[in-house]
Amino acid sequence: MARERLYLFDTTLRDGAQTNGVDFTLNDKLAIAGMLADLGIDYVEGGYPGANLTDTELFADERKLATTFTAFGMTRRPGRSTSNDPGLAALLDAKADAICFVAKSWDYHVRVALETSPEENLASIRDSVRAAKAKGREVLLDCEHFFDGYKADPRFALACAKAAYDEGARWVVLCDTNGGALPHEVERIVGEVVRVIPGDHVGIHAHNDTEQAVANSLAAVRAGARQIQGTLNGLGERCGNANLVSIIPTLKLKAEFADRFEIGVSDAQLAKLAHASHTLDEMLNRAPDRHAPYVGESAFATKAGIHASAIMKEPKTYEHVPPERVGNRRKLLVSDQAGKSNVLAELDRIGLKVDKDDARIARLLEVVKEREALGYAYEAADASFELLARRVLGKVPNYFDVEKFDVNVEQRENAVGKRVTVSLAVVKVKVGGETLISAAEGNGPVNALDLALRKDLGKYQSYISAIELTDYRVRILNGGTEAVTRVLIESTDELGERWTTVGVSPNIIDASFQALMDSIVYKLVRSGAPA
Ligand SMILES: [Zn+2]
Repeated sequence: MARERLYLFDTTLRDGAQTNGVDFTLNDKLAIAGMLADLGIDYVEGGYPGANLTDTELFADERKLATTFTAFGMTRRPGRSTSNDPGLAALLDAKADAICFVAKSWDYHVRVALETSPEENLASIRDSVRAAKAKGREVLLDCEHFFDGYKADPRFALACAKAAYDEGARWVVLCDTNGGALPHEVERIVGEVVRVIPGDHVGIHAHNDTEQAVANSLAAVRAGARQIQGTLNGLGERCGNANLVSIIPTLKLKAEFADRFEIGVSDAQLAKLAHASHTLDEMLNRAPDRHAPYVGESAFATKAGIHASAIMKEPKTYEHVPPERVGNRRKLLVSDQAGKSNVLAELDRIGLKVDKDDARIARLLEVVKEREALGYAYEAADASFELLARRVLGKVPNYFDVEKFDVNVEQRENAVGKRVTVSLAVVKVKVGGETLISAAEGNGPVNALDLALRKDLGKYQSYISAIELTDYRVRILNGGTEAVTRVLIESTDELGERWTTVGVSPNIIDASFQALMDSIVYKLVRSGAPA
């Protein structure tokens, strides 16, 4: 049986850009649009030309993307003609393949926010769709507050949608703008809409205010809608938009959808999903959500020893889909509950070949347990685990020695009489036969120590110069007689690889130093630096 085509519409660059703290540059937008096209997303909405400089520039040139590149904007203003509306003119001039208009579909909003009549709202929809069609664009209409509008006055809400469809809009998109609709309501209302407008012209745009944007999108598809709008990682204002990173694998891997529908994302593209999700976080300088469905670091992580041995035998026993399908991987956590099978599986994953009866495995397990009792957390710090394992198995070269370091924190008045606190670190390192002394100033003692440590490692400098610290987390652990500090440091490199290391000590500088050292040594091991 031929499967029906479902279309994906990404609005990360438009609706997603409404997120607090998110500010895409033109280059960011082009990079993300390219990445979305590579993923096989049918429509990429780039922004709102005329609303800000970046979006105007984005649509000033042909972008030649392998997707239907879409500009967003308002229908003509009430009381104006299409030829006398500068906002509409900017939209019609945009170098885009498609135009997505937004229009009111809730009578209450038409009266109160737009201060116009229902008839004028319908005329504005018809005129705008006609003008964009005349310009040769594919046209979509986002019906704002459709579900609330439909509950208040179904005839008017439907009339707005129908006006666009009758005028030749390719898609009429039903928006749950305030995110308050529930899946059973969406399914019922979409079911009623598709009796009037064919489902292969109906889209869903859900927000996540009751954490059901994904469920609402799937409910709309079940009821007949054939376009889904959403964003990467569910980016979007308030609680976000429907998360395409969760929707795509569900459509591809769950039989209810996979048997009936086909999407533009191939299996090979699906395997790039985790990477795309993490890349967006990186561009936003955010740590990826470890618990994100499908793509999170913990999405296929298992802790207890008994589960780990079952997973190694038969992954399906504990996994709802194979992690590699979405570009993720199985992870067996090493913790104080760990059995030997966990450790063996981790060693296998990091590529350390050890016989399962090797006596050193028991030794490694013992060391892990001892150190976890002291406060080390290897579940979160797999790079430190890898180093520990390699050390116990006798495989980490001694690249360099830190002979001493000195960190100094000083509060004083600066040249303009303002009180400032500055930190200075001096590190003495021995690399081969050479002694190197580096000093650096930082905005805090750990920052200064990090800068000094990575300033000059002699022959190893080229391996570590691209390391960046992307996250630094401190926890005070209350165990035994004195509190200790646990520091977790996340680092990345020029290849986009990301690793986490751990340090524990009663002294925060010392704990940070351990984690920094592990990060550098891990990078040297990974790069195959000569001893
Ligand atoms: Zn929205």
